[in-house]
Amino acid sequence: MQTIRDLGGKPDDQAKIDVEPDVQSYVWIRSTSDLYIRSKPGPIFYLLACAISFWLAGYIRQSWLVMLPPALAFGLLGYLRIAHRPPEAQARQSDFERWKSVHWAYIHTGSILWSVVAMGIGWLEKEPNQAVIVSVITTITFSTAASHAFAMHPWHARICVMELIVPSILLYIWGTPNLQATGITLCIFFSYLLINVRTTSREYQKQMDVEVMLIRSRAEISSLSMTDVLTGLPNRRKYEQAWQSLWYRAARKQEVLGLILVDLDHFKRINDEFGHLAGDTCLQHFAQVLKRHVRRESDIAARIGGEEFVIIMPSCNKEQLIQVAENLRADLQKTPCQLGTVQIVFTASMGTGLADWQNDDSPDLTFQRIDKACYQAKASGRNRVVAV
Ligand code: GH3
Ligand code: MG
Ligand code: MG
Repeated sequence: MQTIRDLGGKPDDQAKIDVEPDVQSYVWIRSTSDLYIRSKPGPIFYLLACAISFWLAGYIRQSWLVMLPPALAFGLLGYLRIAHRPPEAQARQSDFERWKSVHWAYIHTGSILWSVVAMGIGWLEKEPNQAVIVSVITTITFSTAASHAFAMHPWHARICVMELIVPSILLYIWGTPNLQATGITLCIFFSYLLINVRTTSREYQKQMDVEVMLIRSRAEISSLSMTDVLTGLPNRRKYEQAWQSLWYRAARKQEVLGLILVDLDHFKRINDEFGHLAGDTCLQHFAQVLKRHVRRESDIAARIGGEEFVIIMPSCNKEQLIQVAENLRADLQKTPCQLGTVQIVFTASMGTGLADWQNDDSPDLTFQRIDKACYQAKASGRNRVVAV
């Protein structure tokens, strides 16, 4: 969502964009959507593995009703995981946290349910027949998948792996002598998975760090390309964007939109008399004076040319606009630019006006009318404000 602040900001922070909220929400959105997408297929595979194991064990041939509880449980879980969509991008952090807690509960429920199925088969079969082999292989597959897929939260990933594999290990080693060797092998594999979680979560974090760095660099480049190097004010490019966007938005809503154009008087003379560097200092000095008069969050000040500046003022009436311009003009006149022991006094001519929704067909037409007013201020003696 683009705010006026994004478009130009107050002169204090100028074209600098505060990118941290974007970074934070990117991290939340990315990690929640990864969790959502990666957890979706789980219940289908649990159900499939359950059906194959039950078939091989002969339970389904005895009564197909045996599939009813797992079908209902995994079916419901699959539905819940799909229906539980992540919060919208603009949601608060607490919404993302709440969503994650609920979604992790669904994920842990899935692993525990699968563990119950795998243990049930091991307990009933008690020997490494085809049904047990399938349940062991799928337990290994599910726990490996969990150690990779849930790397965005290593502790949840570890707990998931434990839920999937540890109950079977305990049963095979202590409850079923014929499956002891399988239990010991699973135990070794389990320790590997715990290490794997650490590796994959570090890789995930690194990937996230790179993406965050890209967001920050992009924002910085964008901010620099919109900032005037000399004064730190938003530059012409930023002004064009802001003016176009605010003009059309205000036109749509028939809202008031004001513009002040400022042209410093006889600026060439300052350069000629004191040198170009002194001229630069005067421009910086003017930017400081300008900042004192652009106080509202919604107002935008920019340097649009060599010694030309603008202030865009949404939601202000004609009198307020003239007052701001008049105050700025008077302030500049009585505040000389200090250059060592030398004080340089200079003035500015300004044109002000509101967008005229009956006659202005475009942002350029409004600008041209107010530019003419600025020209009139020059022609009628400089150091004055002319309003249209
Ligand atoms: P007017 O009152 O009619 O506006 O006279 P002016 O001298 O201000 O206007 P003109 O357009 O003739 O000259 C503008 C001057 O501003 C010429 C240029 O050297 C100076 N200028 C423009 N950009 C910069 C800058 O970045 N630094 C310095 N030092 N001077 C600049
Ligand atoms: Mg000029
Ligand atoms: Mg000038």
